[in-house]
Amino acid sequence: MRNIDHYIGGGAHAAGDRHSDVFDPNNGGVQARVRLGSDADLQRAVDAANSALPGWAATNPQRRARVMFKFKELVEREMDSLAHLLSSEHGKVIADSKGDIQRGLEVIEFACGIPHALKGEYTQGAGPGIDVFSMRQPLGIVSGITPFNFPAMIPMWMFGVAIACGNAFILKPSERDPSVPVRLAELMTEAGLPDGILQVVNGDKEMVDAILDHPDIKAVSFVGSSDIAHYVYRRGVAAGKRVQAMGGAKNHGIVMPDADLDQVVNDLTGAAFGSAGERCMALPVVVPVGDKTADALREKLIPAIEKLRIGVSTDAEAHYGPVVNAAHRQRIENYIQMCADEGGELVVDGRGFTLQGHEEGFFIGPTLFDRVQPHFQSYQEEIFGPVLQIVRADSFEEAVRLPSDHQYGNGVAIFTRNGHAAREFAARVNVGMVGINVPIPVPVAYHSFGGWKRSAFGDINQHGMEGVRFYTKTKTVTQRWPDGSVTGENAFVIPTMG
Ligand code: NAD
Repeated sequence: MRNIDHYIGGGAHAAGDRHSDVFDPNNGGVQARVRLGSDADLQRAVDAANSALPGWAATNPQRRARVMFKFKELVEREMDSLAHLLSSEHGKVIADSKGDIQRGLEVIEFACGIPHALKGEYTQGAGPGIDVFSMRQPLGIVSGITPFNFPAMIPMWMFGVAIACGNAFILKPSERDPSVPVRLAELMTEAGLPDGILQVVNGDKEMVDAILDHPDIKAVSFVGSSDIAHYVYRRGVAAGKRVQAMGGAKNHGIVMPDADLDQVVNDLTGAAFGSAGERCMALPVVVPVGDKTADALREKLIPAIEKLRIGVSTDAEAHYGPVVNAAHRQRIENYIQMCADEGGELVVDGRGFTLQGHEEGFFIGPTLFDRVQPHFQSYQEEIFGPVLQIVRADSFEEAVRLPSDHQYGNGVAIFTRNGHAAREFAARVNVGMVGINVPIPVPVAYHSFGGWKRSAFGDINQHGMEGVRFYTKTKTVTQRWPDGSVTGENAFVIPTMG
């Protein structure tokens, strides 16, 4: 059995006897065991980070950026093998794994421009003989705790920016698919990053708590489900850390009567069922405005859903693969039953799907519900599977209200040909990321990613300039170089520039 170790101080660290199974979702078998670390493993990583930090923080930003350039080259070189490794533990199809890696690499590309992004501000002559300037300094040791569903992209969202800013980064990836994060850390070493600047500690709640409580760790970035995000936020902030904690989602796609329904169906099937619905920016709720729109949409959706091909991750023709493990598949099936019990009309039922030759794999067919009501628990909660719920709205106003009132506020999309409606919607909807005829509005790397309400705790988003702000502290210097003549009447009064 292959063991997945920690990556500490530039090499594998194989201590501890607690493990968790890592499955191959395509066949349901255990393919590896990942170590679940303890306080002692974290301390080892913190010690290595503390030794490496002064040198890295003092390295000029252009040299730090060169490591990012080289890392990008190495990841591109290994794209195929990384994508296969990712798919074998996560279950998403190879092309989608490449997308996962590529979206992370785009943040690395942003980080290549860190010399520019780190420049401070300067005011000459803010007062008589006085200049003011600011600089962005790294925080020190920072940490990221990541979910299973984007094991390449989300770690890179975090460590790309944090390391380029001059910090040391300790990553605690999901214990369900930890191999790609470890491999990325090895590639950073190969790219020239000093040992101790990017480390991976594997583990579960015990390791997360150790990170949250460690006094040398100055900031924690978390992405995962909302209850845990809230917990991480509270405990990390109570320990005096800077914390950003992204949570779950239930994104709505609003379909106006004037939308191009063929385009909508095409976009929706990809956004609802791609990656088996295991995306925080999936579109698991569609809100057609008016019964006529709803009936026409439903009529086009059914055959499109029935045509979807579910296959193993390496099947190049498959639209999506298995979900991550058996417990998650069971959870999704429970939600399907709940929605039916609540009165949803089960139009396509994906339960009981098996793939010939892969009967033990964690597959689940696509599911479609119509006439889902806002008071259903199955609507209010995140299912995180290949399940699409149609919630019919009577008017544009109701369509704005549904995502605005929902507990989650990650992403939302509107499909329409009416620019005024789209503009109104974008301005009024109470959600953090909006797509206009774009089903998965994940902002590009040089903008920032973050939801609202229970989709994010804390106030600074991931990557882009928000990421730079999260991983640096601003120091502002007010300077005067006296010419020898004594000034300073009113020295006992708060100085003003008036
Ligand atoms: P999860 O919350 O189960 O796990 C996330 C991380 O928290 C993992 O590293 C895990 O080891 C750790 N963890 C798990 N249980 C813990 C506990 N009790 N105490 C402390 N730490 C714990 O999430 P997941 O199932 O890996 O990922 C899916 C979730 O992540 C979905 O809710 C999805 O919407 C969300 N997500 C959100 C975003 C976003 O940016 N908003 C992006 C991707 C995924």
